Amino acid sequence: MQTIPHFINGEHVSDAERFAPVYNPATGAQEKQVVLASTAQVEDAIAAAAGALPGWRATSLAKRTAIFFRVRQLIEERKGELAAILTSEHGKVLSDAEGEINRGLENIEFATGLSHMLKGERAEQVSSGVDVHSSRQPVGVVACITPFNFPAMVPLWMIGSALACGNTVLLKPSEKDPSSAVFIAELFAEAGLPSGVLNVVQGDKEAVDAILDSQEVKAISFVGSTPIAQSIYARAAERGKRVQALGGAKNHMVVLPDADLSMAADAAINAAYGSAGERCMAVSVVVAVGSIADELVEAIAERGRSLVIGAGTDATSQMGPLITREHRDKVAGYVAGAANEGATVVLDGREHAFDSDGFFIGVSLIDHVKPGMRVYDDEIFGPVLSVVRVDTYDEAVALTNANEFGNGVAIFTRDGGAARQFEFEIEAGMVGVNVPIPVPVGSFSFGGWKNSLFGDTHMYGPDSIRFYTRGKVVTTRWPDPAQSTIDLGFPQVD
Ligand code: NAD
Repeated sequence: MQTIPHFINGEHVSDAERFAPVYNPATGAQEKQVVLASTAQVEDAIAAAAGALPGWRATSLAKRTAIFFRVRQLIEERKGELAAILTSEHGKVLSDAEGEINRGLENIEFATGLSHMLKGERAEQVSSGVDVHSSRQPVGVVACITPFNFPAMVPLWMIGSALACGNTVLLKPSEKDPSSAVFIAELFAEAGLPSGVLNVVQGDKEAVDAILDSQEVKAISFVGSTPIAQSIYARAAERGKRVQALGGAKNHMVVLPDADLSMAADAAINAAYGSAGERCMAVSVVVAVGSIADELVEAIAERGRSLVIGAGTDATSQMGPLITREHRDKVAGYVAGAANEGATVVLDGREHAFDSDGFFIGVSLIDHVKPGMRVYDDEIFGPVLSVVRVDTYDEAVALTNANEFGNGVAIFTRDGGAARQFEFEIEAGMVGVNVPIPVPVGSFSFGGWKNSLFGDTHMYGPDSIRFYTRGKVVTTRWPDPAQSTIDLGFPQVD
């Protein structure tokens, strides 16, 4: 059985006392195992990153930039292989895996502009004969802890800017689909990134705890579920680290009565069931406003019935399996519970029979859902779409704003004024107007509000430059030594 190693200081390391199984979700078979780092191995990797820091932060911006151009080219050339790895361990269909890689590459493209991003400011003659300039310097060793659902894109969200800013990195991918992180680190090495600058440590809670307890790790970027995000934020902040911890979501898509219902139904299908709903920006609640609900639910149901579910390697499949058997069973439990709670199960994903041991479930559409039902309150993270019916726009906004999460939100309407008002008053970090999955392009930053993000800065884009650097301000004067005097007063500008 293939063993997926760490990648530390430019070397593959397979020594381990503990391993975790890695499944092919389409077959249900365990095809690989991954090493799980001990505390001592994490400390070795941190030492490698710390050792590489002085050299990397002194590497010219021009040389760093050249590496990003090369790695972008290498990932482009090897995209098919990387997508195949994603599909074999995550289950998503190949076209979706390629889409994930393309969105991740935006962050490498952003990193090629690092010499522009790292420019400071300068003001001449702020006081007589005094000039001031600012610069941004790396924070040091940065740890990136990533979830299973985007095993290539989320690491690329983080490591592009972290490395560009002159930090060295410890990447701890999800143990459920760990190969792509090693593949990406190998491509960085091939592109000329020095050993120790980007290290991959495989592991679980033990590895994360060792990262959080290390004095040497100065900043943590985390993406995962809300309870873990919250605890990592608290523990890292307590130890004086800089931390951004992105959590879960329950993304609402508000459909106003004037919307094109056919377009809205297409969008709901794509955003709810793409990647089997295992996206932090998936739409999991449609809020139908006014009299359109019956027609909209029927339009979504009609499309949902004809979706093709199967192995991600089959080009005809539109949706693949879930990540694990346990997760599939948990999702099925939510659908079972919805009817008991008084909702109407329009499409029941459990009815789909698959003559395979893979972790498949069909798509579910649940109508007449209300807050207080588990199917509404919890992040399900599967192909389950709830419909909440409300009478007015104001009720739709109040419902959405009352939700504990505030990651993405969308409005479907032909009314520009309504869309503008929605944008103004909705409490979420990313808003789509007739765009169901408003993941910002790489030149902007990604992040939610409320329980979807713990910390101050959003991820990738301009916010990432602030997160991965420390500001320094230098005040300079070159006075004539002959005019030097003693003055114990606090320096004033003049
Ligand atoms: P998860 O929280 O289980 O795991 C995330 C990471 O934390 C993994 O690397 C895992 O090994 C580690 N981890 C797990 N349990 C831990 C513990 N007890 N202590 C320390 N570390 C631990 O999340 P997941 O199931 O891999 O990913 C799905 C979740 O991620 C969903 O909630 C989804 O909404 C969220 N997500 C959010 C975003 C976003 O941008 N807000 C993006 C993608 C995924």
